[in-house]
Amino acid sequence: GEEMAAENCIFCKILSGKAPGHIIYRDDDIMCFLDIAPVSMGHTLIIPVKHHDNIFTLSDSEVTALARQSKRLAPIVKRVTGADGLGVHQLNGRAAGQTVFHYHTHLIPCFHGQSMQI
Ligand code: 5GP
Ligand code: ZN
Repeated sequence: GEEMAAENCIFCKILSGKAPGHIIYRDDDIMCFLDIAPVSMGHTLIIPVKHHDNIFTLSDSEVTALARQSKRLAPIVKRVTGADGLGVHQLNGRAAGQTVFHYHTHLIPCFHGQSMQI
């Protein structure tokens, strides 16, 4: 179940302080932190505090909190990195390329003439 998954989940470990992370923002619902292997400077992840493997089990209130945080953080990440654009990406399931099975949204600063792929 979800509790078993959470024990072995790297993002749950960052949430609980058992693993290090460059945390940008945290509240009761969501957390934002820097990606350990950024595809570009400022590559940021937004996750729900409650463990969900992927989009399929998220509640409406979690979706709202996650979307609101993407909206708030997007212009800040774009501005502080001097990016020309910002990719917002979210993968569900191995077939989609998901590698960490705690739901997350990527914010990826993008620059003219460079391709940034997760
Ligand atoms: P996915 O392909 O599942 O959408 O992306 C997972 C992301 O999590 C990758 O961009 C990867 O670099 C990042 N990641 C994996 N392990 C860690 C970690 O321990 N800490 C942080 N901050 N990011 C991680
Ligand atoms: Zn987790």
